Formats: sequence, structure tokens, C-alpha cells
Amino acid sequence: MTPISANLQAVKTRMAAAARAAGRPAESITLLAVSKTFDTARIRECHAAGQRAFGENYVQEALGKIAALADCDMAWHMIGPIQSNKTRAIAEHFQWVHSVERDKIALRLNASRPADLPPLNICIQVNVSGETSKSGIGPGMEIALADVISNLPRLRLRGLMAVPEPTSDTTLRRQRFAQLREMHENLMARGHALDTLSMGMSDDMEEAIAEGATMVRIGTAIFGART
Ligand SMILES: *Cc1c(COP(=O)(O)O)cnc(C)c1O
Repeated sequence: MTPISANLQAVKTRMAAAARAAGRPAESITLLAVSKTFDTARIRECHAAGQRAFGENYVQEALGKIAALADCDMAWHMIGPIQSNKTRAIAEHFQWVHSVERDKIALRLNASRPADLPPLNICIQVNVSGETSKSGIGPGMEIALADVISNLPRLRLRGLMAVPEPTSDTTLRRQRFAQLREMHENLMARGHALDTLSMGMSDDMEEAIAEGATMVRIGTAIFGART
């Protein structure tokens, strides 16, 4: 096995063990391979090992990779902070955006989504850790943003995403993920048909899966350390 396929297998084993411990089916959790900073040869290797969903943080870097890998059957997820002058490129080239935190960005993505493509899948990013993390909408504010997005025909609201502050305190990790799950449940109770809770990375996927993650975003554990 190549290192990436071995890493991919190890990640899937961790996901399955976490799912089992939580009494959840392993198939209820999707693996998003976060390929930022890694070149197309590594991404191709990961694709050859069976991976189909890839996450990128920087639009310019991602566009080059998406073009170079156009022959591969892949879904691209934008997971990094979004500048408004990049919304057209995102709407044209990605299938998912996890990092929507402002009305203005949602409106621009909706306006730019090409008519011949299906609606763009959207997660609202929430800042569950408060002021220590800069990205994401404040807790409570996701309700109004979800209403805005649900009324945009070229967007499809799928759920919530969060990147809690790094901590070795596993109890705190679980609290942050539980907070996001509760917000997700609250939105569903308000009538939003959601199916995606995007939470958990290489170091904390177990806690995220225990709290209901349906998509984990894994970089380091698949591709190795970023330089
Ligand atoms: C880089 C990144 C990841 C992956 O982090 P790892 O710790 O390398 O698994 C996940 N989500 C977001 C938003 C990221 O920026």
C-alpha cells in the first residue's frame, strides 16, 4: 500500500470505531479529505485509493487543482474563509461550501451559481468557541442566516460547520460539538431540512462523531503534516 492509502484506511478504521462506540452506523459519516497545501499527485493518489470528496481552503490554489484533476470523479468542498471577490469562482467550481457566515456571501454565491449546475450545497460556519476563533457567525445568529439561505433558489442549505479552538481537554471538545449539534437540531425544529453536521478534524474526530458529526474534515491524518 502507498502511504496515503494506508493513512486513508487508518482514518476509516478510526471513524468506524468511533461510530460503533456511539452506536451509530459507520455509513452515517462521510470522510472529507482536506488536501490544502498538497499537490495534485498526492490528491490523485488519494483518489486512486477510493476517496471522492476533497476540501480546500484557498480558492486560487484550489482552482489549479480542480482544473488539473478534471478527469477524476471528485466533489470539491470549500472550507476556508471567503472573500467576496472570490464568490463567482467558488460558485462555478465547487459542489459544497462549508464556510458561509454572512448574508452578503450567500447572496453572491446564489447569484453566481451557473444555471446548468445543481444548487450549491451550503453549511453555515458557527464560531462555537467565542472570541478565541475568528471565523464563523456568533451562536444564535445562524437562525436568521439559515432563513436567508433557505430562500435562495441556487443554494441548498445542508447544515452547520464549526472549527472549535484547539484544546487537549476532551470534555470541552465534546461540549463544543454538542453545542453545534443542538443548534442543528434547533434549526430542524424550525423547519429546515438539514442532514449535515460538518465537525471533527484529525485530532478530534472521535469526540465529533460521539456528538453526531455526519462529515469529518481530515487533512493531516491522511496526507501528513503541512509545512
Ligand atoms: C485544515 C483544516 C482541516 C483539516 O485539519 P487537520 O487537523 O489537518 O485534519 C479541517 N477543517 C478546516 C476548516 C481546515 O482549515
